[in-house]
Amino acid sequence: MSDLEVRGAARRFGDVPALDGVDLEVPSGRLLAVLGPSGCGKTTLLRAIAGIARPDAGTIVLGGQTLDGPRVHLPPERRGVGLVPQEGALFPHLTVAGNVGFGLRRLARPERAERVSAMLELVGLGGLDARGVDELSGGQQQRVALARALAPQPGVVLLDEPFSALDAALRAELRAEVAALLRRIGATALLVTHDQTEALMMADAVAVMRDGRIVQHGPPREVYARPVDPWVARFVGEAVLLDGELDGSLVRTAAGPVPVAAPARPAGPRVLAFVRPEQVVPDPEGAAARVLGLRYAGPDGLVRLELGDGTAISARWPAHALPTPGESVRIRLVGEAMAYPAD
Ligand code: ATP
Repeated sequence: MSDLEVRGAARRFGDVPALDGVDLEVPSGRLLAVLGPSGCGKTTLLRAIAGIARPDAGTIVLGGQTLDGPRVHLPPERRGVGLVPQEGALFPHLTVAGNVGFGLRRLARPERAERVSAMLELVGLGGLDARGVDELSGGQQQRVALARALAPQPGVVLLDEPFSALDAALRAELRAEVAALLRRIGATALLVTHDQTEALMMADAVAVMRDGRIVQHGPPREVYARPVDPWVARFVGEAVLLDGELDGSLVRTAAGPVPVAAPARPAGPRVLAFVRPEQVVPDPEGAAARVLGLRYAGPDGLVRLELGDGTAISARWPAHALPTPGESVRIRLVGEAMAYPAD
């Protein structure tokens, strides 16, 4: 597998800049998740890398070979890119083996059969070669799609919301399984998804995409704990945003003081402070808050609180100790906060 590098990729549809100067890289053997809301340009990016839609500008380089550049545009079949489309898109008239072997027509027949069997073993479908694809479950079909993409030994495999059609339990199972499989074979992979959990749990790095641009690119923990702005903070998970005042390395808020992460960028003392709900914890010595309501979620619950200054925030509370609406509680902030300019 190879390094993938995209530089300055641009693509317009009329007035819509679907890709507006996208830069990203996926080191060999790593899984990058491109995470963004519907319409942000994820599919356009994958189609550009796969060679299905040529970018208006920019370069795409895979393993040192330029796939797209000012005078270069390799056709899809010569790019060494494997694609797992949304909902599989298997060839319905072919068997499982026919699907997986589709990109292997240049191989001699025995070699092809051997590769197909090995790929089916790899995705946990050994022995199902002769099955029709309409005789498979949704999860099995997605595994066939993955085996088909990996069979020609591509330099990079692209996964386009590959689990979106599956039910929650199967989706969780396949995410873990596919991430482990891709790591085991050392695949370079790019996953596009609008699902924060999927991106955070599967990827080595996450690139957050908004309106055709990558607005943050980093390890999952960093993107979750240190979002670059309030939009990313809200998009990547539940966000607690509080008015605050910078005081040295602390920010003072209605929920109490909290150390500021990283160099604080804002110029003035007034800031917007951000933490996650799990950083709001009960403390008998802490700031007073009133419970507005709660959302139970198995092992814990999300409690809506109103602070003394009227600000509403969320706190993650263990299920065995959930307060009741109307109750008064005391809380403090733990860990570090991000400080954004107060607009
Ligand atoms: P989703 O998650 O809903 O699939 P996405 O992030 O993949 O969304 P894209 O499909 O890449 O987004 O679309 C990005 C933008 O470009 C959208 O505003 C879309 O309407 C527009 N767009 C995409 N393809 C075309 C096309 N062929 N013609 C016109 N506009 C297009």
